[in-house]
Amino acid sequence: MRHDTRVAIIGGGIGGLALAALLQRQGFLRVTVHEQAAQLARIGAGIILSGNAMKVLRRCGVEDALLATGIRPSAFTSRDWMTGGTSYLMPMDATAEARFGAAFLNIHRADLLRILVSALAPGTLRLGQKLAGIEETPGGVRIGFADGSATEADIVVGGDGIHSRLRAILLGEAPPRFTGRLAIRAIFPTARLGGLAMDDCTKWWGADRHALTYFMTGRRDEVYVMASVPGEWQGDDLSRPLPREAFLGHFDQAAPELRRIAEGAVECAVWPICDRPRDDRWFAGRAVLIGDACHPVRPYMAAGGASAVEDAAVLARCLDGFDTPDAAFAAYAATRIPRVAEVQRISIANTWMRGPTEDLDWFFGHDACTAPLAALEPAA
Ligand SMILES: Cc1cc2nc3c(=O)[nH]c(=O)nc-3n(C[C@H](O)[C@H](O)[C@H](O)COP(=O)(O)OP(=O)(O)OC[C@H]3O[C@@H](n4cnc5c(N)ncnc54)[C@H](O)[C@@H]3O)c2cc1C
Repeated sequence: MRHDTRVAIIGGGIGGLALAALLQRQGFLRVTVHEQAAQLARIGAGIILSGNAMKVLRRCGVEDALLATGIRPSAFTSRDWMTGGTSYLMPMDATAEARFGAAFLNIHRADLLRILVSALAPGTLRLGQKLAGIEETPGGVRIGFADGSATEADIVVGGDGIHSRLRAILLGEAPPRFTGRLAIRAIFPTARLGGLAMDDCTKWWGADRHALTYFMTGRRDEVYVMASVPGEWQGDDLSRPLPREAFLGHFDQAAPELRRIAEGAVECAVWPICDRPRDDRWFAGRAVLIGDACHPVRPYMAAGGASAVEDAAVLARCLDGFDTPDAAFAAYAATRIPRVAEVQRISIANTWMRGPTEDLDWFFGHDACTAPLAALEPAA
């Protein structure tokens, strides 16, 4: 498509910001990102960026800043929730980086977003713009926001996450599927570990729960603890504060080392873990979805953000390589759907990196910026 195509991206999350950065670097001149939040705050959680995500983020021009801020863990370790015994240890050393083509990085999500924003042309990100509705016009699409303002674009991209408004507009209202599990989390300074030598990045596997513990900065001064535990959720709120005692209660049966790490928590939060059944309708008319808006996964493979970033890479290539939105969107969806379906399947099974049997290369080694695009059937 022409480089003066007006591309409006809804949602300044991981996928939306990566897409904007990639399009601008490819020469698209009229890219805007419309984010509902009024400001970017350093709240949230940690995120693991595997080599496949980092290769795309390299193309966004942010690899060095990410490496300078986050941490390259020395290894990913799988341990038993109760005994602490190690079932798998994958060194994330120079050999692994050469094998996968990029580093494996852990970082605070807000640092990732801030660094992505810094890669955008000034004025690209429009804060406080919550999508309300869209309307196709003869010349494009009119995008209306909750505050009554509106803008026009040639195409609109929904990077607006698991509760995507654009998805609801295209496919109808349907709430995400609650999985019967809660994510509990805490972030705290490493000094609270009282000298305990914590491994860089560990997944603790229990019978009905698991936890991830890792540092989020290269200085190893900030710890992230996240656990998936069984539970109920009532109400529409997306997350809630969790009393520290309730948080620690979930670690009653944990190995002493895991329990000690959890005890570092001060402020804790809980939110419901949701996904959606697979649905391959990713675009309609001038609108297309990326990331959690079209394929939210359970966060058990640490692959949802990475998949959103891969979507961004493939969609950016397709917008550059095809003449019409229809052709670009069809090539994008056909390329991405089989790979994302596999990520969804593994995320539900929750087996990724539990033991040494997994083939890691198809996921970590993938480069969405260069991998072949799906061949499309010629139009009848
Ligand atoms: C507990 C947990 C741990 C995870 N850990 C990892 C991990 O380690 N590695 C990994 O790769 N993935 C991980 N994920 C998954 C990952 O967070 C998501 O898959 C990823 O954030 C999806 O990116 P996105 O760009 O599609 O959406 P998001 O990053 O959710 O961004 C959506 C954006 O859209 C905005 N928005 C929403 N509605 C509107 C609207 N109406 N108008 C305008 N803006 C709107 C939101 O404010 C937000 O900024 C985890 C998820 C969870 C729940």
